[in-house]
Amino acid sequence: MGAFFSRTQNDLIAASREIGISKPLLTKLLKHDNVLEFMLPVSRANGTTEMVKGYRLQHDNTLGPYKGGLRYHQDVTLDEVKALSLLMTLKNAVIDIPFGGGKGGIKIDPKLLSSDQLEELTREFTAQLAKYIGPDVDVPAPDVNTTPQIMSWIVDEYNKIPNGRTKLNHHAVVTGKPVADGGSEGRTEATGYGGTYALLAVLKHLKMKPKGLSVAIQGFGNVGQYAAECLQQNGFKVIAVSDSKGGIYSPKGLPAASILAKYKAEKGRVLGFEKTKEISSAELLTLPVDILVPAALESVIDEKNASKIKAKIILEMANGPTTDTADKILQKRKILVIPDVLANSGGVATSYFEWYQNVQHVKWTREDVLEKLKEKMEKAADEVFALHKKYKVAMRKAAFMSALLRIQRVRKEASLQ
Ligand code: NAD
Repeated sequence: MGAFFSRTQNDLIAASREIGISKPLLTKLLKHDNVLEFMLPVSRANGTTEMVKGYRLQHDNTLGPYKGGLRYHQDVTLDEVKALSLLMTLKNAVIDIPFGGGKGGIKIDPKLLSSDQLEELTREFTAQLAKYIGPDVDVPAPDVNTTPQIMSWIVDEYNKIPNGRTKLNHHAVVTGKPVADGGSEGRTEATGYGGTYALLAVLKHLKMKPKGLSVAIQGFGNVGQYAAECLQQNGFKVIAVSDSKGGIYSPKGLPAASILAKYKAEKGRVLGFEKTKEISSAELLTLPVDILVPAALESVIDEKNASKIKAKIILEMANGPTTDTADKILQKRKILVIPDVLANSGGVATSYFEWYQNVQHVKWTREDVLEKLKEKMEKAADEVFALHKKYKVAMRKAAFMSALLRIQRVRKEASLQ
């Protein structure tokens, strides 16, 4: 226990050494501003009440209100939310949005709850959280097993509570809401599209053209599907995709992502799509492709398969798809890894656009959102790539350095240590 957070702290220390971050700032960032723990009642069908643990970790708010998801999962631990909230501080700083880092969740398997129980639990959590969150304080969002509907319940409950802070802007208390309830156009595709924009920016530096580059994508959910769509629109050839039931492969290129998505929606899997070869999700990782996109689970690239990967570039759309040992092997093999904190930050960038539209009382079109997203992703990718070149470090370390430099600059300007 404690491994994930201490690993993240070690990465932070290693990045800070490269650029000489001040000791007081590093000491601050190795800890959390606030660690909030709650006990929440869940009424069971047999009439008993069980108490479950809820968390909200507020890591650092140098750049703005704490921001990060709430996950509902039986494996949520304090160590996990500590690490994830620190990573949110860095992700928000890399993509240059005015938010600090936070994360939270409830240790429960929501699949065991009825919709009424889920709503009751969410409202109770919101009631306890209300005095610690708000549009200008801490802005939660969806994460594992939390949906736009859950965000709507939070807005509604937050607005009922007398000490809810800013009634006028109460919708901005969370992001990831349904579009009809203050959500943003373009949020659904933002993470997949954003990763593609970051990849395009990196390819420009490498003087590589996307046309015809082959891609394999592990995971065909929200992120994988829209990454495939945007990659295809930009001339890449997606030759393999997979989901939890298995994968499909066609060296000549798969049909449009929207056609595959329609098939998956009907059958519940991509497997069996006409004129494709069946492959396992593990085989997909070692296919002869130019670009590999893990877009499903954590730790899928490990010490067993890292030496067999044939892609020249890995675009980490999932959170934490590469283990530490694998990372070292990939670095030795000169495989360029575009790290998760950069590659999948399109989601939180668009959360910022949602919050901005809420507090400004404006509504942007999908085109507006995607154009602004592209600008943000390109700028962040350019900055990280420049540090990667200048300091001769992996892009993962460069992304941490980019975040640290931004936070340090803002604190200096505000005369903070
Ligand atoms: P999702 O639930 O929509 O999709 C996950 C996909 O992974 C599904 O297609 C599922 O079938 C597939 N999958 C599960 N097990 C698999 C396996 N063994 N092999 C291949 N595929 C498998 O989730 P998502 O929103 O697309 O998120 C995917 C990843 O991206 C997660 O790591 C998530 O944390 C990360 N992420 C998502 C967002 C976002 O905006 N959705 C933002 C940042 C990071």
